Amino acid sequence: MPKLIVIGGVAAGMSAAAEAKRSNPLLEVDVYEKGPHISYGACGLPYFIGNPAQKPNELIAVTPQEALEKKGVNVYVNYEVTSIDTRNKTVRVNDLVTGMSSEHAYEKLIIATGAVPFVPDIPGADSQLLFRLRTLTDGIKLKAFICGNKPDKAVIIGDGHIALEVAENFKACGIGRITIIARNRHLCWWLDEDIARLQAEEAQKNGIELIFGERITGITTGTNAITVTTDKASYSAAFGLISCGMKPNSTLASAAGIAVDNRGAIIVDSRMRTSEADVYAAGDCCTTFFVPEQRDIYMPRGTTANRQGRTAGYNSAGIDAEYKGTAGAMVFKLFGIETGRTGMTDAMAAARKMEFVSVLIKSRNKAGYYPGSERIYVKLTAEKGTGKLLGGQITGAEGSAKRIDTVSLAIMQGMTVKQFKDTDMAYAPPFSPVWDPVLIAANKLAKLV
Ligand SMILES: Cc1cc2nc3c(=O)[nH]c(=O)nc-3n(C[C@H](O)[C@H](O)[C@H](O)COP(=O)(O)OP(=O)(O)OC[C@H]3O[C@@H](n4cnc5c(N)ncnc54)[C@H](O)[C@@H]3O)c2cc1C
Repeated sequence: MPKLIVIGGVAAGMSAAAEAKRSNPLLEVDVYEKGPHISYGACGLPYFIGNPAQKPNELIAVTPQEALEKKGVNVYVNYEVTSIDTRNKTVRVNDLVTGMSSEHAYEKLIIATGAVPFVPDIPGADSQLLFRLRTLTDGIKLKAFICGNKPDKAVIIGDGHIALEVAENFKACGIGRITIIARNRHLCWWLDEDIARLQAEEAQKNGIELIFGERITGITTGTNAITVTTDKASYSAAFGLISCGMKPNSTLASAAGIAVDNRGAIIVDSRMRTSEADVYAAGDCCTTFFVPEQRDIYMPRGTTANRQGRTAGYNSAGIDAEYKGTAGAMVFKLFGIETGRTGMTDAMAAARKMEFVSVLIKSRNKAGYYPGSERIYVKLTAEKGTGKLLGGQITGAEGSAKRIDTVSLAIMQGMTVKQFKDTDMAYAPPFSPVWDPVLIAANKLAKLV
């Protein structure tokens, strides 16, 4: 029986394994996962922290036993793949419980080793009181600390959506004082400053202290407290969280001679093939094709991991499938506002030295006279001259974030803003004004390109 080996058992790995087995039932599919859990919703971890009643298994979609019974996939948890030999087509696996090492031959191999938290080089960042939130095990550890110690103050290093989601959930589980020490000039570097300002206002309105423009110089840990020192001040708390983004977990691949890019992401083509024959990669460990710029970049996302995993699964099972790339769509919630973004921001277009125009409009999420009608802000960016839609950012009350999907579709299809403004968008008072805010922005932008 031909054998597919998958390394990593979360979003990309399990999508790949299930799809490969479904496509070719004759394939023997073995998944090795070095952690104790597979197939869990990492994106749900901030909400898991904020809800003391939620149990870890509620985040798990499939257990190893269910993977075998329902999908015909063999999953080995607490098994770490320690090396890949692409010439002899074998992997070496270490059983983390017994310490036994063994070698296994593959016909096809999928690397889905994900990402690891990026931890800046700050003295003291290895503190026991400075938590990370990447895996379910990280989440269980952090939640146990909060439930056991009932801390009154937390400090968060980082300024992305995970840092903000966690801040909101720290509040939800009763932590009164939260300080976020941002590492960039504004929250969420992948938003423009004018949109990110609205996130900052919402955070501050909800009692989150935001610190900008300070450089962290060290972290010290006492018996029951951690202190983050910057070039301007010191911030003490009962514990801290570091959330400064991800880096691809690709050392296993690069040690095997598989090509990686300058950030260490495994280079893949549209069929998720790596530089080595019969070796595929998917998810947070590899590159993704960024449609607005028509080039490969590193952009780890749960959506991408699932789509790339599925594509790798098909191709490894002998069925031709192509991953068409990403527009960079993402959404998140912060207290009372929702945010969606896709494509390029003004700042990204400027950094690429593109000629662009943009508009930022303010409208309502429902008809003005409808109860609960509130503010929504839409920003659209297009290339000057061609009029090609480059990006969108939407923030505001209920119903704001997922409006970004229409912009994302337009970018994936290479539409101009003039084409996009003619989109037929549905209307009823509980959902939007007659002119959807996205169309109001598109109409305005179409006059400028
Ligand atoms: C808190 C949080 C919130 C998030 N929110 C969102 C969101 O709202 N929307 C969104 O799109 N994305 C979100 N993401 C990102 C999303 O969760 C990831 O993109 C996704 O989990 C990536 O899946 P993956 O399978 O590629 O990698 P991972 O989830 O990192 O899984 C890789 C697995 O491989 C295993 N592994 C690594 N090396 C080996 C080895 N040598 N041998 C065996 N096993 C190995 C690891 O133990 C790990 O379990 C969030 C992530 C986090 C942490």
